[in-house]
Amino acid sequence: MTARVLDGQALAGRLREEIAPQVADFRQRHGRPPGLTIVLVGQNPASEVYVRNKLKAGSEAGFRADLERLPETAALADVLTLVERLNGSPVHDGILVQAPLPKGLGTDGASRVVDAIAPEKDVDGFTPGNVGRLVQGRPTLVPCTPLGIMELLTREGITIAGRRACVIGRSDIVGKPMALLLLQRDATVTVCHSKTPDLAAVCREADILVAAVGRAGLVTKAFVKPGATVVDVGMNTVTDPSIVAQWYPEGHPRLARFRTHGSLLVGDVHPEVAEVAGALTPVPGGVGPLTIAMLMMNTLRAARARTGT
Ligand code: NAP
Repeated sequence: MTARVLDGQALAGRLREEIAPQVADFRQRHGRPPGLTIVLVGQNPASEVYVRNKLKAGSEAGFRADLERLPETAALADVLTLVERLNGSPVHDGILVQAPLPKGLGTDGASRVVDAIAPEKDVDGFTPGNVGRLVQGRPTLVPCTPLGIMELLTREGITIAGRRACVIGRSDIVGKPMALLLLQRDATVTVCHSKTPDLAAVCREADILVAAVGRAGLVTKAFVKPGATVVDVGMNTVTDPSIVAQWYPEGHPRLARFRTHGSLLVGDVHPEVAEVAGALTPVPGGVGPLTIAMLMMNTLRAARARTGT
C-alpha cells in the first residue's frame, strides 16, 4: 500500500483563491485592505525567511502587510511599546510577533510580549484569552498550523468524529491546540511527549497521527496503524549523507536534491511510513504552506470582527 498524499501546497493555492474576493470585498466596503503587521526583533536567519514569505503571501493576497523591525539589542520595554502602538493602529487588524525572540528579553520576555497583544488582533491565537476560548470550545482566533491541519483533514474527507487521534508534541503553538481542535471535532485524543513510555505502541492505536516534534524520521512504520492518516508537522534540516542514503534509494529525486544542496528539509515522519499509512502529508508541501494560508484567513477574520462586518 502506498499512502495517498495530502497535498497542502495545492490546498493553500485554493484557499488563496477563495480569500482574494473576500479581501477585495473588505477593501471596497472599508476603503482600505485588511492589515497585517509583523514584528521582527533581531536577525535570526530562519525568521527572516519566514517573515519574508508571510509578507509576500499577504501582499499577493491583497492585504496591507507591514514589517516593524527592532534590533537584537532592543529592551523588553521597546517591544512592549511597539506592540501597544500597533494595538491602537486603525489600519492593522492583525499583529504577529515572530518567534523566537532574542534571549536578551529575559526568560518571560516572550510571554510578556504575547500577553501585550490585543486579543482581537492576535492572529497567531497565542494570547491567554484566545487560548482560553479554544479550551472552552468557543474559538475565535486559533493558532495557524493546527487550524490549517484541520482544514486539510476536513477537505480531504478524513473522518475525525469517533476516531482515535494521537498528537506527538505538547507545545503551545502546535501540539496543545491541535489536540483541542481534534477533541472539539469528537476525536478521542491522546497527547504524547518526550516522557511518554512506549511511544510507538501508543501511536499505533491512532487512526489520525500528528507528529509535531522536530526530530527527523522519529515516526517509523512501527508507530503507524495500517491505513492511518499521518500528518507530519516537523521541519528538520538533515545534513548527514548517511541518513539520506538510508532513507532514499539510489536515483530518488530527494537524494539528488540533497547532493545538489548539501542539506534536505525533512519531517518527523520516516519515508517508510508511506508503505503503511492510508494518507500522509509530505514535507515540504504539506502543513507548511497551510500555516501561511491560515494566517491570511485569521487576518481577514480579525479585520471583519473589528469592523463588525
Ligand atoms: P517544540 O516546542 O520544541 O515542542 C516539541 C514537542 O515534542 C515537545 O512537546 C516535546 O516534549 C516533544 N518531543 C521531543 N522529543 C520527543 C521524543 N523523542 N518523543 C516524543 N516527544 C518528543 O516544537 P514545536 O514548536 O511544537 O514544533 C515542532 C516541529 O514542528 C518543529 O520541527 C517545527 O519546526 C515544526 N513546525 C512546523 C510548522 C509548519 O508550519 N510546518 C509550524 C510550527 C512548527 P516535551 O514537552 O516533553 O519536551
